[in-house]
Amino acid sequence: MPKGSHPDSSQSTVADQRPRSGGTPEIFGDISAIERRSRREQVSEELALSEATWHAAFESAPVAIAEVDLEGTIIRANQAMGDLLEMAAGELEGTRIAAYYHPIDRSDLERRVVTLSHGPTTEMVQRHIVTARGNDRWATALGSLVERGHGRGGPIRIYLVDTTDAHLAHERIAMAQARFGALVEHGSDAIVVEDAIEGRIVYASPSLVAVLGLPPAEAVGSTLRHLVNSDDLADPDQRRSRLAGPGTVISFDCRARHSDGGLRHLEVTSTNLIDDPAVHGVVNNLRDVSDRVAAAARLTHQALHDSLTGLPNRALLIDRLDQALARAARSGRPCALLFLDLDNFKQVNDTLGHAAGDKVLMAVADRLRDAIRPGDSVARLGGDEFVVLAENIEEPSVAVTIAKRARARIAQALIIGHDTVRVTCSVGIALSDYHSADGLLHEADLALYRSKESGGDRSEIYDQAMRAQAERRAEVEDLVRAAIENCEDLLALHYQPIVDLTTGTTIGAEALAYIRRPEGTMMRPGEFIPIAEDSGLIVPLGTAVLDLACAQQAQWRAANSGQDHVAVNVSARQLAASGFVRTVSDTLATYSLRPDNLCLELTETSLIDIGPDTLVRLHDLKAMGVRLALDDFGTGWSSLNHLRRFPIDTVKIDQSFVAGLGQNASDTELVKAVVDLGHALDLTTTAEGVETTAQDDLLRTMGCTQGQGFLYGRPQMAP
Ligand code: C2E
Ligand code: MG
Ligand code: MG
Repeated sequence: MPKGSHPDSSQSTVADQRPRSGGTPEIFGDISAIERRSRREQVSEELALSEATWHAAFESAPVAIAEVDLEGTIIRANQAMGDLLEMAAGELEGTRIAAYYHPIDRSDLERRVVTLSHGPTTEMVQRHIVTARGNDRWATALGSLVERGHGRGGPIRIYLVDTTDAHLAHERIAMAQARFGALVEHGSDAIVVEDAIEGRIVYASPSLVAVLGLPPAEAVGSTLRHLVNSDDLADPDQRRSRLAGPGTVISFDCRARHSDGGLRHLEVTSTNLIDDPAVHGVVNNLRDVSDRVAAAARLTHQALHDSLTGLPNRALLIDRLDQALARAARSGRPCALLFLDLDNFKQVNDTLGHAAGDKVLMAVADRLRDAIRPGDSVARLGGDEFVVLAENIEEPSVAVTIAKRARARIAQALIIGHDTVRVTCSVGIALSDYHSADGLLHEADLALYRSKESGGDRSEIYDQAMRAQAERRAEVEDLVRAAIENCEDLLALHYQPIVDLTTGTTIGAEALAYIRRPEGTMMRPGEFIPIAEDSGLIVPLGTAVLDLACAQQAQWRAANSGQDHVAVNVSARQLAASGFVRTVSDTLATYSLRPDNLCLELTETSLIDIGPDTLVRLHDLKAMGVRLALDDFGTGWSSLNHLRRFPIDTVKIDQSFVAGLGQNASDTELVKAVVDLGHALDLTTTAEGVETTAQDDLLRTMGCTQGQGFLYGRPQMAP
């Protein structure tokens, strides 16, 4: 709109034509008309002057101003209005102001325009503006009716102050507050604010109901110490001092009683916001970590307990033992360690199956729990090994009594399915000398070994003699280890001839393991074989013996000595090892021996609790063509069944019976019976320990096939 052609002039004309309230009636004639006219002109001039001033102010005003008619059509708008509505000011003219208001504000706008036609101004309101380009703006709006001094209802001026920035900022704050509020109100953590002075709770969030079952109102006025387990909450003074600095954050775990009676584990994070004017207190975040604590406890329990019986395992036992030893050292009252091992448990597993074996172990665990005194503990070390730790043992007899009670309980018949099982156990007892847990366990183990050695089903107390024996065993083990590592020099195999009793010729030799001591003397197998068996060293030792013996047999063959086989003693543990058959075939191949150049001697006792896998292994060896001999026959179970069950070629009659030949009737009868049995079952019979010609004569008469003993040759090293 061109400047000067003010729309107001036409409007004011229209307004002037309307009767003024309290105006002079036409009846007063010309004078008043002249008067009126001159006054109107005067007002018009004044108006024209103020219009000019107004116009300049209008255009340059920093406030957006628009003048609209009573229909809401924009008559004119200033630059600031154009900027606000994102349209050239001139182009706004003729458009409707309502078009720039958000729909929700439009009806109110219309109402206010109507109000304005009767009154001078409206109060300020907040408006949501939508610009010509469709952008959202917010403004504070004020409307006023333009008064022309001679009438009302002139255009309306609308003033808009852009408050978009403030509005958006406010909205952001409001949103953040709402979000924060929602977090506090609906979060799973409970928030508890303590006042700065007394530590009284001034605020508790609704989540306190979820966390502790407590309505927030009930918590307000009380203290944090009151809410949680007071024993777990750090000393209040200490907590206060740790929380002293403004902004300090501390965390601690504690327990709290839920209103349902259950105990909950809480992780409390306290933040000192005493200096924060909005809080002026300590804000505590209470998080229920019961699940996490329970999971951790489960893991710890699993790590420290045996899964089958639920008893403490070795790790926990060692821990308890350490503590018990420390207590014993303080009190002067020793503690006792009872090491229990079931006798022949393997048989239970083999005959009734592992499930039954597990049931036996569980029952033993229960019985041991029953047998101990309150305060003592039972642990399972694995397999069929259990330990009882008993404290405050005034004298060794107390420990022996506990062992007796435990053995008696365990020995009671046990019904498993349709079977009645009876297990006995051997016990080794050690009393604390205030030394280490490992040391005590070791001593109890040695005592257990002694009780096993003495036939089992008994208890033994560790003593000085055992200590000496233990040292001796350790020395022997070292020698065996050295012999395995350096077998060419230290493993000095001795060979004892085996003769054909009908021809008197040497047909084979038994290899016996001797170990050369550092000083050059020989250690006999009787001294170290049992120790090597116990420590497991027998397996590598046996492999070395097999290798050396086969090497020797290959040499004899090459020299045409007439010895068609070498006999090698094999222990039960070697046979139980899965690679044994392979080791044998590889060794034979290495020395280009025929399988029947090798005879493996197995003692009857080693075959007693043979498992199905081992039996298959025996049959594999037999199928390969290796000879198998049952050694020391008569000393074990001497069961005819064994002779049938195992695929053996030879029975070696133990020297103890041969020694009584011709002197002791029953020995003579027994040897005769075995020889006859050999004939019946088509087995070779070898008499061991033949020392006299009388024995030799008798054996020949009986029809014994082979002989071995000092009479024919002592064990000696191959030349
Ligand atoms: P064995 O297999 O029954 O060996 C025969 C034992 O009787 C040898 O004792 C031998 O010296 C002894 N002996 C032989 N003839 C006579 C005799 O006329 N009179 C008397 N009184 N004794 C005689 P040694 O060498 O002490 O071996 C003892 C046991 O050690 C062997 O009994 C065998 O079971 C075991 N052994 C030896 N070497 C090995 C080996 O390499 N591995 C395994 N697993 N055990 C072995
Ligand atoms: Mg033998
Ligand atoms: Mg023998």
